[in-house]
Amino acid sequence: AKKQGKNQMSFFEYEMQQQFMSRVVIEQELREAIHTNQLELFYQPVITLDTGDVKGFEALIRWNNNGITRSPDDFIPIAEESGLINALGLRIIEDALSTVSQWNQKYGKEFTIAINISSKQLRDEVLVEKLRDGLEKYGLKPELVELEITETALLHDTETVSATINQLHNLGCKLALDDFGTGYSSISHLREFPISIVKIDKSLMPLSEQDAKHIALVRGLTSMVSILNLSIVAEGIEHPHHAELCKELKISRVQGYYYSKPLPKSDIEQRYVITQ
Ligand code: C2E
Ligand code: CA
Ligand code: CA
Ligand code: CA
Repeated sequence: AKKQGKNQMSFFEYEMQQQFMSRVVIEQELREAIHTNQLELFYQPVITLDTGDVKGFEALIRWNNNGITRSPDDFIPIAEESGLINALGLRIIEDALSTVSQWNQKYGKEFTIAINISSKQLRDEVLVEKLRDGLEKYGLKPELVELEITETALLHDTETVSATINQLHNLGCKLALDDFGTGYSSISHLREFPISIVKIDKSLMPLSEQDAKHIALVRGLTSMVSILNLSIVAEGIEHPHHAELCKELKISRVQGYYYSKPLPKSDIEQRYVITQ
C-alpha cells in the first residue's frame, strides 16, 4: 500500500468517520420517523405448548424507512444512546396496551401482551406512572402485561433499577427476564428481583436433533429455572424438533417462526385473534 500523507485519513479513520456519519444520519432519520409515525408495532403470537392455543403476543417494533425495513437491533441501540428511547418506549407501551385491550374487549379474550423495556427506560422517572395511566385508560388487567428486561439491565444503577422493577411489580405487571442463556444467567438475579418469567434465548435452540450441546444447555437452564418455580417461555422455535424438546422439558410457552413470524396488527387480528 502507498504511504499515507499527513492530511490523508487512514482506512481506519475513514471507517470510523463513515460509521459516525451513518450513526448521526440514522439518529436524525429516527427522530423524524418518530414524528411522522414510520414506526409500527408488529406482534408475534406466544403459544401455550400443551394446548396449541395462542396465549398472547410479544410486541416488536419495526421501522419502515422508505420501503426498507430496519431491524430494531440496528436502531434501538441508537435510540438508547441518543435518549430517544424514552419517548419511543412510552409510545410503544401505549400502543401495545391499546391494541391488546381492544382485542380482548372486542372478542372477550384475555390475551397477554409482552413489551420489551430497554434498560434506559428503567431509569425513566415517568415510566411507572405512564404504565399505570395506560392500564387504567385501557382497562387492562395488569397481570396480562409482561415487561421484558434483559439481565444486563440489572447490572448497573442497581438501586434505581431495583426500585423501578419493584414498582412495576407492585402495579401487578409481570416481569420477564429476556435473552436468558446469553449473558450471566445468574440464579441470584432470578432470586433478587421479582421476576416470574424467564425467556430462553433463541440462540440456544439446537441446530438439529443431534446437537447434544445445545440440547444439554436448554435442559440445564430449564431445570434451573423450574427449581425456582418460574414460568418459562422458549423463543426461536423454528422446527418441529424444537417444539418436541420443549414439550419433553415441560416448557409451558413457546414462540418462533414455526408458529408465526411477527406480523402487523391487522394480520394478527385476522389470523389469531378472531379465530381463537
Ligand atoms: P428479543 O426481544 O429477544 O426478540 C426476539 C427476536 O427474535 C425478534 O427480533 C423476533 O422477530 C425474532 N424471532 C422470533 N421468532 C424467531 C425465530 O423463530 N427465529 C429467529 N431467528 N428469530 C425469531 P426483532 O423483532 O428483530 O427484535 C430484535 C430485538 O430488538 C429484540 O430481541 C429486542 O431486544 C429489541 N426490540 C424489538 N422491539 C423492541 C421494542 O419495542 N422496544 C425495545 N426496547 N426493544 C425492542
Ligand atoms: Ca423480547
Ligand atoms: Ca431473545
Ligand atoms: Ca434481545
